[in-house]
Amino acid sequence: MDKSRSSDAWSLRGLIPDNHPRRESLIVREKLVEALENGILVAQGLIAHGRGECFDYLIGEKTQSFAELAEKVAVAMLLLAKNPVISVNGNMAALVPKEIVELAREVNAKVEVNLFYRSEERVKAIAEELKKNGAEKVLTEGDATIPELFSERRKVSKEGMYSADVVLLAMEDGDRTQALVNMGKKVIAIDLNPLSRTSLSATVTIVDNVIRAFPNMIRFAREMKEVRREEIKKLIDQFDNKKNLSESLKFISSRLIQLSEDL
Ligand code: ATP
Repeated sequence: MDKSRSSDAWSLRGLIPDNHPRRESLIVREKLVEALENGILVAQGLIAHGRGECFDYLIGEKTQSFAELAEKVAVAMLLLAKNPVISVNGNMAALVPKEIVELAREVNAKVEVNLFYRSEERVKAIAEELKKNGAEKVLTEGDATIPELFSERRKVSKEGMYSADVVLLAMEDGDRTQALVNMGKKVIAIDLNPLSRTSLSATVTIVDNVIRAFPNMIRFAREMKEVRREEIKKLIDQFDNKKNLSESLKFISSRLIQLSEDL
């Protein structure tokens, strides 16, 4: 590990000028590099992030109205769930560890470490990171299996994802998302790419960056606690995921046309 880099993910703050146009994005990259060095992330996670950055550019690096709607519906679903679970991977633990714990508390969800590239060391490093950020309990045991998948990818916790009715995940692989849906679970996916297999197979797709989606959802969870159960249910019933995904694609295409005319 490069010792000139402090273990504090924000160490480069002083080196990235305040007025740098891509400052926030550079800080996020720096957090991911730190997570790689700390055994939380694998190199493939950096590549996945790069794909996300590209789509974030296309949506204007802002929470657009289609994402805000999906975030509200997702919170509604989590609030009405019997056994909601937030599935955490390396990218999520690197970017929003505190927010994961906060949202789980607001909607009474369990937190489970679930990795595509699973190793016991990495599971432990992520669980520790979440505990450092206030989590009291983190599910880590792979004592049940998702049917249809093979090897380490299929391991989940019996108490968590295996028995969950609603699962919130982000930056997930399409096969695993589809397998969870096939098990009868409602899957909420945060994914910047509206065309990914995950986005297309989830029950609710949030086309937004996790760094914006989590704080928004924490806010909505607090607001929605005052709302009657029937109203919350109505929000879910009226939601059409395919239509919302299509809104995101229409937004991107009209934005690109607008930008091309502004050149
Ligand atoms: P799929 O198997 O679903 O088609 P994929 O193979 O394209 O997915 P992966 O590399 O497995 O994708 O997962 C990364 C996904 O996460 C990408 O769709 C990417 O756009 C998205 N992503 C990356 N960073 C973020 C982020 N910060 N917030 C939300 N989504 C992100």
